[in-house]
Amino acid sequence: MTAAIIDGKAAAAALREQVATEVARLREAHDLQPGLAVVLVGEDPASQVYVRNKGRQTVEAGMLSHAHRLAVDTSEADLLALVAELNDDPTVHGILVQLPLPPQIDEQRVIRAIDPAKDVDGFHPLNTGALANGDPDALVPCTPVGCLLLLREQFDNDLAGQDALVIGRSNIVGKPVAQLLLQESCTVTIAHSRTRDLPALCRHADIVIAAVGRPEMVRGDWLKPGAVVIDVGINRLPGEGEKARLVGDVAFAEAREVAGAITPVPGGVGPMTIACLLRNTVVAACRQAGVACQLG
Ligand code: NAP
Repeated sequence: MTAAIIDGKAAAAALREQVATEVARLREAHDLQPGLAVVLVGEDPASQVYVRNKGRQTVEAGMLSHAHRLAVDTSEADLLALVAELNDDPTVHGILVQLPLPPQIDEQRVIRAIDPAKDVDGFHPLNTGALANGDPDALVPCTPVGCLLLLREQFDNDLAGQDALVIGRSNIVGKPVAQLLLQESCTVTIAHSRTRDLPALCRHADIVIAAVGRPEMVRGDWLKPGAVVIDVGINRLPGEGEKARLVGDVAFAEAREVAGAITPVPGGVGPMTIACLLRNTVVAACRQAGVACQLG
């Protein structure tokens, strides 16, 4: 079997188009221009690339982009003061503080300081609690939503009864993606570094979501034939010359021979993350303005 390739780039482009259409409608009908503030502390090269891409795509969708670049030695108090300012700014509907933060800053304290209504990353405890309660008003982390949208497309919007294995239990990916799949009535197993016999668990799964951060850990012979594989991992390996080579958490060439469908790295989950961030910002803006959002 050769797996179908799940084209995250195309899915993300389609989602960005829907977002742009909705933004144009909101501006026309309600004089509402959704605004996203992205805060970057320090000069981590990968974070700089993410922040640049987020700003560009926000503007392309017709939204307002507010970028705040702070020095690596910024104090926690100064960052909290900026977050408070953004919480009070009516032109800002979404706030994203790029993680990781430098060691002098307590990430959880910063996340808790963000107005939950503007928490478009979905990391505030009120939003994670709302997601766990199945509350449709939760703002849900972007990468997990991206995974879910790709899966819904594969299963014609009906995931009920599928055996799903989530490898990884982080607050950013593993736990929220497991919550979303549970809401879709999948039978969900969450694996982590202490899980016994991961290959055996994998062989039972109709859906495998790998969010580990270990290059090509999931092998082809771990998979059930026909399984749908969502590879969240982004691992940089030394490539030709200066250029890093990106690989996922799944051994793509092997997995492709066994799976029914698989996301590539790059070009799978990655592009969906920013598109879902734009979507969350529009949803948040509509709620703050008290107008109905027409995004599905
Ligand atoms: P993380 O916080 O480091 O969590 C990794 C998880 O993998 C942990 O739960 C860990 O278990 C588990 N794990 C580690 N070794 C394992 C093993 N041998 N077997 C089974 N589980 C194992 O990472 P993350 O933030 O969730 O990110 C995961 C990957 O996704 C990274 O490559 C990251 O770059 C990528 N990512 C991509 C996007 C995107 O937009 N595509 C977004 C976010 C993250 P323990 O809890 O027991 O330690």
